[in-house]
Amino acid sequence: MTKLARFSIWYFLATLLVFVILQNYLIGHRVQTVSYSEFRELVDKQGVKDLVVSSDTIDGKLTPAGVEFLAKQRQDPELVERIKQLGETEPAFSTVRMEDATLLERLDKQGVEYSARLEKTWLTSLLSWLLPMLLLIGIWVYFFRKIGAGAAGGLMTVGKSKAKVYVEGETKVTFKDVAGVEEAEEELKEIIEFLKNPAKFQVLGGKIPKGVLLVGPPGTGKTLLARAVAGEAKVPFLSLTGSDFVEMFVGVGAARVRDLFAQAQEKAPCIIFIDELDALGKARGLSPMGGHEERENTLNQLLSEMDGFDTRKGVIIMSATNRPEILDPALIRPGRFDRHVLVDRPSLKGREAIFKVHTRGVKMVPEVDLFKLAARTPGMVGADLANIVNEAALLAARRNKAAIEMVDFEEAIDRVVAGLEKRNRMMNPREKEIVAYHETGHALVAESLPTTDRVHRVSIIPRGVGALGYTMQLPTEDRYLMTKSELEDRMAVLLGGRVAEELVFDEVSTGAQNDLYRATDIARSMVREYGMSEKLGPMTFERERRPLFLETVMPPASKDYSEGTAQEIDREVSALIENAHHRAKAILESKREILEKVAKILLEKEVLEGDDLRALLNSKAE
Ligand code: ADP
Ligand code: MG
Ligand code: ZN
Repeated sequence: MTKLARFSIWYFLATLLVFVILQNYLIGHRVQTVSYSEFRELVDKQGVKDLVVSSDTIDGKLTPAGVEFLAKQRQDPELVERIKQLGETEPAFSTVRMEDATLLERLDKQGVEYSARLEKTWLTSLLSWLLPMLLLIGIWVYFFRKIGAGAAGGLMTVGKSKAKVYVEGETKVTFKDVAGVEEAEEELKEIIEFLKNPAKFQVLGGKIPKGVLLVGPPGTGKTLLARAVAGEAKVPFLSLTGSDFVEMFVGVGAARVRDLFAQAQEKAPCIIFIDELDALGKARGLSPMGGHEERENTLNQLLSEMDGFDTRKGVIIMSATNRPEILDPALIRPGRFDRHVLVDRPSLKGREAIFKVHTRGVKMVPEVDLFKLAARTPGMVGADLANIVNEAALLAARRNKAAIEMVDFEEAIDRVVAGLEKRNRMMNPREKEIVAYHETGHALVAESLPTTDRVHRVSIIPRGVGALGYTMQLPTEDRYLMTKSELEDRMAVLLGGRVAEELVFDEVSTGAQNDLYRATDIARSMVREYGMSEKLGPMTFERERRPLFLETVMPPASKDYSEGTAQEIDREVSALIENAHHRAKAILESKREILEKVAKILLEKEVLEGDDLRALLNSKAE
């Protein structure tokens, strides 16, 4: 179809060209153009007849006398001959009309016949707008067809959207196919139990979460895990992908969601899975181009379906995202996706397990050491590891080997690493070392201070976009109030990372930026909001308020205190930070040895559980 359309366009252009050339040739050679001054003299010499005057030209015929005059005037004796050869005794001529008030008078005096011509006949006026319109329609049809042929399904298939509900009776994926995410599996076991036997839970009146949100970096196995839950429970798996909704026609998205929930009711017990929830569930009003109406309609439909849904029927709504921070707050409210399951990057052990899963079906020589491979792939996610195994198998096949050898794996890793480095997701060994000391610094300070939460886990596996490692502290009890010394301790912990870098490397890196931000924030709040500064006394100084979820820029609130007070506030804030820095430094200096030891272990193991950390600390104390 495209080919034909293109052909006809060229055909059209060629015809036009030929037509223009022909017209020029035919008319150009037969009509003598004369200048206006020549024309005036021709009139005086009785050289013209049968004039037709139009708004901008004067056409007519040259008499033999006129031709002779013209030949003389132009000093071109052959002109008479040439005109004769054309076979016309009275050739046509044309001149451009000029403003000439005496023309009619002159014509009358010489007795030349003349008539006027009305420019616009109905035909010309019709053609003058019909032709361009036809041309436009032609071009429009041409492009329309082109677009239609290119896009999947074409523009003509309005309503047949890409967003399909995939229904799988049985996913055949089980937890055996997933590895390295044991914690997430553990959390999902309850859901599986429920799906296997919803009636049992109903009798007991237990409350089952409606929505489960899997959160984690791309490629960590969120989609896989969701399918495994369905496979383990042996229930149907209905899935939709959020990004399919983005380019859709009005009303279709909402209809799909309605359809999805209606199907789920019939098939219960089952799982509804909405992949890439962030594409659909971006906070409303966050789009830079103003609202994205269609997406919002779909999101609203999803929210209302979730509200009107009864879990007792045995339907669990699962969803996955790698950007939980941009989700609409309404989505994660109680009664919706209120259960969050972290699917994190795998640890060393986890990576070994994932390698085991993916090498189940491939032939390898016995010398292949999966642990070694896991050690060589820090920071990689399940999808990367699956990729490595695949790549290694291809390499071995290309080399006509009967089984994959270690060298094939090594080369495959190099290739995948090169690809990831381009995308900036890998740390070099030096960076890893800095991060290890930094995180150990946080952890040791946290464990040394009396009021801080215990360390739950220290990790140097990169996580999220900004964070290179993390130290996770778990509160031992719910807190509503915090004392001044608790806040001070918290600041010391935040600065611990940077202090460790200072002590060990004698310089600081950019990795502490977020820590500093948070420490400064605490210090500011202490001075300005909580009246915790002795110098300024128990007074609050209004600070600008930001809306909780939206990153809108608000004009700063006008200050209701003097410049002098402002300086005093700044001084107090920096004194608090200074003090926290000092305390962190004192702690880490006294524990320099254990800092080195823990950092080295962390560097090797990548993850250190809180209890192991405390065991190390205690062994030192004895
Ligand atoms: P996500 O949805 O988190 O982006 P996927 O579930 O799509 O990641 O993972 C892509 C592929 O990577 C999976 O099909 C699987 O082959 C592999 N994979 C990822 N994580 C794991 C894991 N934890 N265990 C085993 N395979 C994994
Ligand atoms: Mg996915
Ligand atoms: Zn830090």
